[in-house]
Amino acid sequence: MPPAGDQATSYAIAAPVVTTVAVDGTDATFPVARVFCVGRNYAEHAVEMGHDPVREPPFFFMKPADAVVPTGSRLPFPIHTQDLHHEIELVVALAEGGQEIAVDEALDHVFGYAVGLDMTRRDLQAVAKQAGRPWDMAKGFDRSAPIGPIRPVAEVGHPSEGAIWLRINGELRQEGDLSQQIWNVPETISYLSSLVALRPGDLVMTGTPQGVGPVMRGDRLEGHIDGVGDLAVEYDG
Ligand code: MN
Repeated sequence: MPPAGDQATSYAIAAPVVTTVAVDGTDATFPVARVFCVGRNYAEHAVEMGHDPVREPPFFFMKPADAVVPTGSRLPFPIHTQDLHHEIELVVALAEGGQEIAVDEALDHVFGYAVGLDMTRRDLQAVAKQAGRPWDMAKGFDRSAPIGPIRPVAEVGHPSEGAIWLRINGELRQEGDLSQQIWNVPETISYLSSLVALRPGDLVMTGTPQGVGPVMRGDRLEGHIDGVGDLAVEYDG
């Protein structure tokens, strides 16, 4: 029996489970606090979405922590969409939080990096954009953030260049280079920390290169970032 005063004894329902991501080279897992995502962070993707890729301040949206699912997953096709899209992204995992983090100190807060997918119900996003409404239901739905194992900084360093690509059923759909990011990782962390106090366990999805497009039932998605790793998920047919 827990000691008297143990907070766990006072929950009215079972406490929510902590979502975790595998860490390369260890049995320890990375506990996810929150998932932040950067919009339009590669110029050619901004253009394909109908925007001028000027270097305006980055903007952010979020997914719930439990939207994260591991590589190797077989996923039910998301509900309430006729236009599911893939966005392959570099994911930054934070070991330390902070507020007003300076650009030149931002990388000291990073635990490691992973390959992720910012799955998007593009039809719901289009409606939201048109109506000036939030993107939450377009971006933050169940299982909308498949993320591969995190490679710690000690192994991977701080990748600022290298190929990032996505294949569907073996066919190349997205291809870019990390060096094409409009806001690089330290700039993104610094800017985000001027908006909210970041926490250990936060993940940041750093935007997608050009080539976003539809995902169909039964599709197998394979993503890769040089030096960071791989990710594969498959949707039910
Ligand atoms: Mn994205």
